Amino acid sequence: MPNHSLGTPARKSERVLLGIPIRVEGKDTLGNAFQESTYTLVVNRSGGLIAATHLLQPGAVIKITNLKNQISCSFEVVTRAARSLSGTPEWAVKCLEPEVEIWGVRFPTRAEEPSQADLIHVLLECQECFSQEMAALTVPQYRRLAAQSSLPRPCPICSATRDWRFGFIEVKVDEVLPSLPAPTGSGLTPQSEADKRRDKRLVVKLPLGVRLPDGSEETSTTENISKSGLCFACSLEMRVGERVYVRVGLDGEEEHRDIPARVMWRRPAKEKGRAFYGLKLERGG
Ligand SMILES: [Zn+2]
Repeated sequence: MPNHSLGTPARKSERVLLGIPIRVEGKDTLGNAFQESTYTLVVNRSGGLIAATHLLQPGAVIKITNLKNQISCSFEVVTRAARSLSGTPEWAVKCLEPEVEIWGVRFPTRAEEPSQADLIHVLLECQECFSQEMAALTVPQYRRLAAQSSLPRPCPICSATRDWRFGFIEVKVDEVLPSLPAPTGSGLTPQSEADKRRDKRLVVKLPLGVRLPDGSEETSTTENISKSGLCFACSLEMRVGERVYVRVGLDGEEEHRDIPARVMWRRPAKEKGRAFYGLKLERGG
């Protein structure tokens, strides 16, 4: 069904920075058939951003299989990302069968979301069937979830009201993030091998303020957070290893205190002039 947007362009579904192992099959720019095992960098309801060493033809149809759930569907190659810090070409792809929910996460349509200005997007998991949904919660719903670690709401899979909890994603850091040279003299403490390889994160889009040592500031939204770090996109120029200050949370929820954090990695974002940043919090205790 065509998406009739009246005047304003239809907003895309919330993106999730998620490294899902995939297999890509199709033809490269020379018309040669190929198969490649690779991974996603970003997913949303309508598609995502994938890494692939084979050169893809914009407009070409490729088949992507999610190796976690073995679900396949057709995608159209939209464009090659202008820059890739990972060294592997990155490609924006559009899902031709969004109803298949290949990523294993349900992304509700805008029509299903409450029509309120202040919505917190958060990855939830049904405690009965373990299906995941990128849900749009009202602020009171989010506060309740945060306070009680669970929220009753309808599950479309169970066809019943269920308890939902925060859904975690496991970020395999060395697969998803570009291998940047370790900044020298930055005083970074070496992470344990386990920390390096896997990081459990909540996907929650909370208001965030970031301030640089030179006083420049910007507000943004978190992409995901863990105990020790967070990820977001912004247009401030930050260097890997640099120390910045962040403030996360809803107004009045947390005392307004800037938390020192270290820039761990940087990756260009699709939006011009913006980049994704990974920060490690340096909050003592
Ligand atoms: Zn369920």
